[in-house]
Amino acid sequence: MKITDVKVHLIRTRRTTTIPSPWILVQVFTDEGLVGLGDATNWPGGTIIRQAILELSRLVIGENPFHIERLYHRMYHNLDQIGQTGAVIAAISGIEIALWDIVGQAAGMPIYDLLGGPCREQVRVYSHAGTPEACAHLAEKGCTAIKAYFPVGPLPEGEHIFVPRSITLAEELAALEHMRACRQAVGNTVDICTDIQARYTSSAAIRLAHRFEELGLLFLEEPVGPENIDELAKIKAAVNVPICVGERRYTRFGFRDLIAHQAVDMIMPDVVRCGGIAETKKIAAMAESYYMQVSPHNPNSPVSTLASIHVMANIPNGLLLEYVDDEQDPPWRNDLLTDPPVIRNGFLQLPTKPGLGSGLVMEAVEKYRFEG
Ligand code: MG
Repeated sequence: MKITDVKVHLIRTRRTTTIPSPWILVQVFTDEGLVGLGDATNWPGGTIIRQAILELSRLVIGENPFHIERLYHRMYHNLDQIGQTGAVIAAISGIEIALWDIVGQAAGMPIYDLLGGPCREQVRVYSHAGTPEACAHLAEKGCTAIKAYFPVGPLPEGEHIFVPRSITLAEELAALEHMRACRQAVGNTVDICTDIQARYTSSAAIRLAHRFEELGLLFLEEPVGPENIDELAKIKAAVNVPICVGERRYTRFGFRDLIAHQAVDMIMPDVVRCGGIAETKKIAAMAESYYMQVSPHNPNSPVSTLASIHVMANIPNGLLLEYVDDEQDPPWRNDLLTDPPVIRNGFLQLPTKPGLGSGLVMEAVEKYRFEG
């Protein structure tokens, strides 16, 4: 079997930033009629990643789609001068996922079976909420874990540049009060986590994390950015809340330092931007050797969700998967797929069809194509 073509489809999303942030879906075609589906979404910058995929296609067209390991390295090392970037690694991820889809279809097996079989029968998720009422609504729908966002104060008067900043006592107490209300809205049997989104300085993040200790959070995400591992390790040592980082780290090399320096308690690689299915499994294995669990980042397309389900089904140390609740995404989201992800009482079901488990519905792709 040989790869004959690679196509990229940009799809409109709910995400609005100054730079457009479409979903980036990838199709890899073969001379035997099998078509693999992948996702390369990272944001912002859909057209940058589309161009990277088209450049990479020169390296895979004419090659055997079963040679995933070799083709991954061919793509990675041909672009290694610009390799450790979110755009390039997302582009590699999109093609890599489509290759697994092709191999699974050819073998008649779901991808998780190609990886060694499932370690769990379904994949637990967490969804997002901005208010106590929204937390309660998700819990009523069966969601067993929620990422609750707290209100953040405006930048200080006259400041226009975003850099990590200190926190005021009023802002700190308002965040705690909001998070207490979220906890009370769902009781103690639903897990709550939250995301600082690297807004504050290390000392401010430590102050806030201490306030949150009473909430029994499942994890606290990005207390500071992922760039400075020493600072993350300092925060982790100072607070009694599990620290989780990873949506802005790429490949095994991007996670190695985080894990080996024990700078976090758990990691959140994004399957469609950290290098793909095999790369996420390798990253998870490194984390496993430090008794860390993995909670993949996935606020993306239903293709990203499918790819993440296969990895999460297989890796032994998978904790739970990020999942945008269907009421928070465009209602046509699942029209894009012949077999969209199925969620039941807060758990994603394992696809049973070969490969990724779904193809694209091209009429929907045309209808919702990003035209920006
Ligand atoms: Mg985040």
